[in-house]
Amino acid sequence: MPSGRTHDQITFLCLPWVGLVSLMLTFNLGLSLCLCGGFLFSGLMFGPDLDIYSKQYQRWGLFRFIWLPYQKAFSHRSWLSHGPVIGTVLRLLYLGGWLGLVWLMCAVISQMANLSHQMPPLMTTLEQLWTQSPDAYLALLVGLEMGAMSHSISDAVGSGRKAFLKRRKR
Ligand SMILES: [Zn+2]
Repeated sequence: MPSGRTHDQITFLCLPWVGLVSLMLTFNLGLSLCLCGGFLFSGLMFGPDLDIYSKQYQRWGLFRFIWLPYQKAFSHRSWLSHGPVIGTVLRLLYLGGWLGLVWLMCAVISQMANLSHQMPPLMTTLEQLWTQSPDAYLALLVGLEMGAMSHSISDAVGSGRKAFLKRRKR
């Protein structure tokens, strides 16, 4: 299986091509930037290897503790962390849970402190963002999934290559 460094190199090597192809397909620089942003974020710190002590995990710095329950819940390279679509969806739901918790705490604090500026409900804010620019949302999601898949595919290729070399040695 490729090292964290190799995964990073693959992400950086693929990035210009991802940008070029998305630009050719959408003719929209903003959407391409959203897709590339998602791809880069997913490749470097929101990818499948958050299920172990990895470079992706370490990049969360002070906030990396939030991924500890995720690591406990999923064994390394399980289909729930490395599988297509399901891996990204579960990570998004998981991170969404944490963000929801922080949002709720801020809302409670602002209410207790009787601040004049109250926090809007999280779902309302997300819905507003979605209605304002659904295309950008979709481009971001596609980028996140592509970043995760570039990881999972290189894992699979690395394992296949290793098995092939082992068989040839015998
Ligand atoms: Zn992996």
